[in-house]
Amino acid sequence: MATMTAPNSMMTKTISGGSFLIHDATPADCFSPEDFTNEQRQIAEMTANFALKEIVPVSDQIEAKDFALTRRLLKKAAGLGLTAIDIPEEYGGLEMDKITSALVTENISKQASFSVSFSAHVGIGTLPLVWYGTDAQKKKYLPGIASGEIISAYALSESTSGSDALNARTRAVLSDDGTHYTLNGEKMWISNAGFADLFTVFAKCAVSDGPDAGKEKLTAFLIERGTPGFSVGKEEHKLGIRGSSTCPLILEDCVVPAENLLGEVGKGHRIAFNILNVGRYKLGNAVLGSGKTAFQNGVRYALERKAFGKSISEFGLIQEKIANCATGLFVGESVCYRTVGLIDRALAGVDKNDTKEIQKRIEEYAVECSIVKVWASEMLDMVVDEVLQIYAGYGYVEEYPAERAYRDARINRIFEGTNEINRLIITGWLMKSAMAGKLPLMPAIQQLMDEVMAGPGERVEHEGPLSGELNLLARAKKLALFSAGVASQRYMQRLSDEQEVMGALADMIIEVFAMESAIVRAGKIATAKGSEAAAVPLAMARIYADKAMAVIELAARKVIAAAAEGDALRTQFAILRRLAKHEAADTISLRRQVARHMLEAGKYSL
Ligand SMILES: Cc1cc2nc3c(=O)[nH]c(=O)nc-3n(C[C@H](O)[C@H](O)[C@H](O)COP(=O)(O)OP(=O)(O)OC[C@H]3O[C@@H](n4cnc5c(N)ncnc54)[C@H](O)[C@@H]3O)c2cc1C
Repeated sequence: MATMTAPNSMMTKTISGGSFLIHDATPADCFSPEDFTNEQRQIAEMTANFALKEIVPVSDQIEAKDFALTRRLLKKAAGLGLTAIDIPEEYGGLEMDKITSALVTENISKQASFSVSFSAHVGIGTLPLVWYGTDAQKKKYLPGIASGEIISAYALSESTSGSDALNARTRAVLSDDGTHYTLNGEKMWISNAGFADLFTVFAKCAVSDGPDAGKEKLTAFLIERGTPGFSVGKEEHKLGIRGSSTCPLILEDCVVPAENLLGEVGKGHRIAFNILNVGRYKLGNAVLGSGKTAFQNGVRYALERKAFGKSISEFGLIQEKIANCATGLFVGESVCYRTVGLIDRALAGVDKNDTKEIQKRIEEYAVECSIVKVWASEMLDMVVDEVLQIYAGYGYVEEYPAERAYRDARINRIFEGTNEINRLIITGWLMKSAMAGKLPLMPAIQQLMDEVMAGPGERVEHEGPLSGELNLLARAKKLALFSAGVASQRYMQRLSDEQEVMGALADMIIEVFAMESAIVRAGKIATAKGSEAAAVPLAMARIYADKAMAVIELAARKVIAAAAEGDALRTQFAILRRLAKHEAADTISLRRQVARHMLEAGKYSL
């Protein structure tokens, strides 16, 4: 049996998805960029060089929708193996670990439109076939996908069902002789549609046997361009990522051979949602690539631009922006690579052909994948906004890169599940796992409720350069659990109807994960290099912990104010104040320190 291996030696113990709320992560639990192998670093560098030499110089042509050029570039990327990383070796792929795949996604993302075309092809376009295809389907299509001859796309959304994807109107009917399906309907917003050759299309189809017999359920099909009854509509004119292709698909009595059914009839929802988990964590990596490019432009401009007789980079308010962006990128790396590290670790030892087990193990981290998606996309919006502000008037005009980066970033909060949907997934998934006893969240909440009601407990003192932040993190986890306890006592099974409460709980959970990822990573760097050499990462972890705690406290107030009243409200607010109490860090001098370092480097640099 050929099994998957974890390339990084520190990855040993498997960690349950969502358990970060109730267990403290050790440095070995949090994979970070410092743990990349030499091979991973080399692949990252090769990808970055390819993007800088081949993609960035033709950016304007890409933006003008020269899709023949995009296809040539995808083919060139394939020549370097970049489109083959997630494809099994026996079908022409390289079958590498998920960290390498994530690194390629980050490093190729120096031109947002191309990055979307690339990700739609190698990620959501290819993985349904890798995971659910028959041997014959894989033999037929995967070698061409790996070599860039065949470009793929993923068609789930419709004009009337985006977030509500299970409510698709497109229908598939099996012929009486069982040889083909006839599909009718439309798909909307399909990336790569203008030039792709192979589409994974979802349609409702009647299930013939089993518990769902007679019901119409989501089913996936592989449809080749040129299939009778299949056509691609006009290109959308978009706010950003204008050089990526986004079109509707029209299916009018589209005849698809029965052998192009992907997976089982009625099981399309599993394909759709499992693929999105990967799409979500990879979006985080793409966002890191875009964010670092935007940041570098912002830093360089700040160094060049003069006002009031000096470089604007000397102004405290400009330095504050630079520090905030750099901290966002540092925490972003910590969150994204911790998540992909968890996934790689969980996949170690799994039979390479056991695709069901592979998906199950990735699905375990649905919460972490959604956290990455929400946190990273909102971080990127902050970065491009601050960079545009550094450019000011020049940021508002097309000749300078800040304008396009600002427009391009916005899509990330919309696709791969909107951030609202992902916030609901985060709280909903954790609550469901807790109710099912899969994650011991309920006993942890109960223990905490008893502890806080009994009065101030003993303080656990942490050691090391981030002792204050570790203390803050412990309080942040308690605040999140306490708020979840108050909300679940008040609303019980109806909690999912209280979306604002679900959203506020998600904000706390997201911030706990982000804060912990950054603190543990900075601590790890300090242990390896010493506190002085790790001054910048330590400063960024402190800045972020301070900010995250403020967000968590605010969200906790919102939840408690909605869920309690009278004496209970007063008691719970008293507990909240006790848990949130902490000494403020001097974040002004910490930010100046971070900004000075980045300005000297002229880019994001650790
Ligand atoms: C450039 C681009 C590329 C895309 N590429 C692809 C692709 O390749 N393949 C593909 O299948 N799709 C693709 N999409 C579609 C994308 O995934 C959807 O736009 C997205 O899922 C949101 O669906 P919607 O636009 O219909 O919004 P809606 O679902 O109508 O949502 C509208 C608003 O309501 C909110 N909302 C919806 N339901 C709820 C709820 N239950 N609770 C709270 N709030 C809710 C949403 O968060 C949003 O703010 C792409 C879209 C764009 C713009």
